[in-house]
Amino acid sequence: MSKEKERYVYLGIGGNLGDRVSILSNSLTAIQERIGTIEHRSSLYETPPWGYTQQPKFLNAAVAAKTNLPALEILGIAKELEQAAGRVSDQPRWHERPLDIDILIVEGEVIDSEELTVPHIYMATRAFVLVPLAEIAPEIVHQTIGLRIETLRDLCPPSERLTIKRYPTPDW
Ligand code: ADP
Ligand code: MG
Repeated sequence: MSKEKERYVYLGIGGNLGDRVSILSNSLTAIQERIGTIEHRSSLYETPPWGYTQQPKFLNAAVAAKTNLPALEILGIAKELEQAAGRVSDQPRWHERPLDIDILIVEGEVIDSEELTVPHIYMATRAFVLVPLAEIAPEIVHQTIGLRIETLRDLCPPSERLTIKRYPTPDW
């Protein structure tokens, strides 16, 4: 297995099918085992579905893990974990799924390939990504836009930001 320098990867995790809290908290264990040590995790947030709106609400969170895996390997593992959680792979984008793991930012890397775009192509305008990520990493800079995560969050329309609600959970 190839190795990179140890650096932070910021992942967005979410899901809207099944026992959402257990699926997300199990994904943390798997991320920790397969990707790297989780050093920060946000609160859970309940968020309205995006794109295709006739589906249950999502729970979303962001985590920061220290890893020396190449970004493409992280993507491969993320897809395996999504499948293992019961995600059907030919569902269109933005439809319901028990687990979605997106690579939001990799410290020191900008990637634009067919399978992988990092920073994540839509993260800069989506409150459901930016609100949890700003909780754990407000000051990191989106490499291609050149703005901090907290600034990007604040640029989201308040009407959208206000739909992202903290979801207090004792076992998270
Ligand atoms: P979405 O998360 O936008 O709802 P999917 O999870 O279905 O969509 O992902 C669709 C494809 O996006 C994946 O097969 C993956 O190869 C690609 N992709 C590109 N960049 C990223 C990224 N930064 N993180 C996760 N997937 C990505
Ligand atoms: Mg995804």
